[in-house]
Amino acid sequence: MLHIAAQKRQLKKDQEQIEKTALIRQEFTANVSHELKTPLHAISGYAELLENGMVREEDIKPFAGRIRGESSRMIRLVEDIIDLTKLDNGDAEMKREDCDLYRIAENAVDSLESRASAANVSIAIDGEDAPIKAVPQVIYSIVYNLCDNAIKYNHSGGSVALGIHQTEHNTVLTVKDTGIGIPEESRERIFERFYRIDKSRSKEVGGTGLGLSIVKHGVLIHNGKIEVNSEPGKGTEFVVTIPNEQEVIK
Ligand code: ADP
Repeated sequence: MLHIAAQKRQLKKDQEQIEKTALIRQEFTANVSHELKTPLHAISGYAELLENGMVREEDIKPFAGRIRGESSRMIRLVEDIIDLTKLDNGDAEMKREDCDLYRIAENAVDSLESRASAANVSIAIDGEDAPIKAVPQVIYSIVYNLCDNAIKYNHSGGSVALGIHQTEHNTVLTVKDTGIGIPEESRERIFERFYRIDKSRSKEVGGTGLGLSIVKHGVLIHNGKIEVNSEPGKGTEFVVTIPNEQEVIK
């Protein structure tokens, strides 16, 4: 009798979990549709004005620029969604390999160099070779997204400092900026999908609201952890700790 009661309880629990997952998926799909609809409406509106000859000759170029800007936003959003889906599904490409977090960070910094100089933010990397067994493209997106944010939410003339060091068991990555900071009450929520502290600033700097959820998910599949220290108005520091060796990948 007892056994049956326990089975029933487990079944109820499983059912609740399935319903919860379905609800999260539904919510995500609704958010994605909304986020894609906004730039699409803007593109369609600008194109209609151009088509109907409602735009003065000298305004044609800025209009084309806006269409390109909104299209880039959609591309970034779709790319982030693809990254998240791969992480959610534990994609077959997600193979652990011997790689070096320091080298990967150098590559990420290289590709962000022009964005940093356009924002007048300096970016420097300090550390040494950090061999780990990990999924290189996931490690790349962790470093890339953290540095990208450190540039986006910084001030002109500010800086970003990356640090990489290794202990016997862990590799620690720190990304420290001199930017706007994160208020205490938002520090947990920033890792949620589509959560932004200041939606218009995020939009202005080309944010999708998905960067940190990709980072968090990437850290978790490596059995790692992420911490955030911040002082509003002074800057933010993200500290990622990843075990050097991974027994099981979740
Ligand atoms: P987004 O694409 O909007 O940047 P993220 O998921 O990467 O989305 O980040 C979520 C929110 O967290 C951002 O909109 C921003 O408000 C805040 N944030 C992230 N990184 C930083 C940072 N280094 N400094 C200040 N705020 C940050």
